[in-house]
Amino acid sequence: MTLDYKSLLLALGVSAACLMVTLFGTWFSRRTDSFLLTLVIALSMTVTGIFAYGFYTAEAGTLTASVAYVFMISGLSVIYGASVQFRTGARPWRLAALLALAAIAPGLPLMIGGLDGLGFILMNIAAALLLGGTAWQYWLARSEAPGPLTGMAILYAMSGFSFVLCASVLIANQQWVLGHAPNNWAETLNIGICIAGMTGIGALSLALHQWRMAALHRREAMTDALTGLMNRRAMFERNGGRMLGTSSAVIVFDIDRFKTINDQYGHAVGDEVLKIFAEDLLVETPGPNTARLGGEEFAVLLDNVLPGRAERIANDIRNRFGARDITVGVDRVRCTVSAGIAVGSQSGVLFETVLSLADAALYEAKRAGRDRVQVSGYLRSVSSGENRTSA
Ligand code: GH3
Ligand code: MG
Ligand code: MG
Repeated sequence: MTLDYKSLLLALGVSAACLMVTLFGTWFSRRTDSFLLTLVIALSMTVTGIFAYGFYTAEAGTLTASVAYVFMISGLSVIYGASVQFRTGARPWRLAALLALAAIAPGLPLMIGGLDGLGFILMNIAAALLLGGTAWQYWLARSEAPGPLTGMAILYAMSGFSFVLCASVLIANQQWVLGHAPNNWAETLNIGICIAGMTGIGALSLALHQWRMAALHRREAMTDALTGLMNRRAMFERNGGRMLGTSSAVIVFDIDRFKTINDQYGHAVGDEVLKIFAEDLLVETPGPNTARLGGEEFAVLLDNVLPGRAERIANDIRNRFGARDITVGVDRVRCTVSAGIAVGSQSGVLFETVLSLADAALYEAKRAGRDRVQVSGYLRSVSSGENRTSA
C-alpha cells in the first residue's frame, strides 16, 4: 500500500488536532504553564491552515490557497512566540503578530496575483525561518532540561529544513507559476517529517511540562510559604553533615513573646510580624543560608566571618527589628527578638551540633530576660580545654 499525499496531509491534520486536545487538557489541569496554551492556539491555527491546504490540493483556488497561507504562517509564528515565552516568560502575541505580518506581506499578494509558485517559495522560506528560530530558542533554553530541549531543537530544525527542501525544488525547477499545489518528492518528505516531528514535539512538550512541574514542586517543598525563606528541610539538606570551622557561625533567632501577639491581635497580625522579621533578616544576611526553621524561629549560617562578626550581625538584626513600629489599626505593636550564636571549631563541628549549641544559647538569652544575643561558651571552653591538655 502506498500512502498518497492527501492521506499524509489528513494524517498531519488529525495528529495536530489530537495534539492540540492533549496539550489543552494538560494546560487546563494546572493552568500554570501558559506556553502550553500558546501552543494550543498555534496548533489550532496550523490545523486550520492544513485543512485549507487539503481543500486547495483537491481543487485549486485563490481563496483556499490564501487561507492556508495565512493560517499556516500565523500558526508557525505563534509556535515561535511560544518558544520565546517558554525561554523568557515574555508574552508572545505582539512578537508573533509582527512575524506573521512580515512573513505574509510579501508572499500573499504574489499568491493572489497569479505567481503562486513564487508565493509558495516565500511561504516555505518563511516556514523554514520560523521553525529554525523556534529550534534556536529551545536550544538556548536547553540547560533547564537538556534531554527534552535538545530533542525539541533537533525536531524543529529538521522540520524547518524540510521546508528549505520544498523551496529549493520549486526554485530549481523555476516553477514561478503553478496553478495547483506543488507536488514533488520534497513535499512528500516534508509532510512525513512534519508528522514525525509533531508527534515527537508533542510528547516532548508534555515531558517538559512535567519536568517544570516537578521542579516547581521541589522548590515549593524547600520554601517556607509565608516568608519565602528556605525551610528547615532545605536548611538541613544544604548544610546537614557539614563540618564547621572557626570562621563559620550559626545564629538562631526566636521572636519574644510571640504567642501574646497572636493572642492580642490575631493570627494574621502574627503572620505579618513573621514576614517583617524575615525581611529584616534578609537585609542583614542576604546570603543563601537564611531559613525559617518553623514557628517564630529562624536560623542563619554564616561562612567566612571573623570572630565577633556574627554577634554584631545578630545585634544589628535585633536592633532593626526592635525599632520597628508595626501598626495594627490604631495600635502600634512593638516586638523584640532573642538570638543564640555558636561557632565551629578548629577541628570542625557538625552543623547539627553547632545549631543545637546556638539553640541552647538562645534559651539562655530567653532566661536572661529576652531581647538579647547570647554566644555559646561551650565550644570555646572545650577548645581552650584542648589547648590546655595539648600544651
Ligand atoms: P518566648 O519569648 O519564650 O519565645 O515566647 P513565645 O510566646 O514566643 O513562645 P512560644 O513558643 O510559646 O510561642 C510560639 C507561638 O508561635 C505559638 C504558635 O501559636 C505561634 N506560631 C507558630 N507558627 C505560627 C505561624 O505561622 N503564624 C502565626 N501567626 N503564629 C505561629
Ligand atoms: Mg518565641
Ligand atoms: Mg519559639
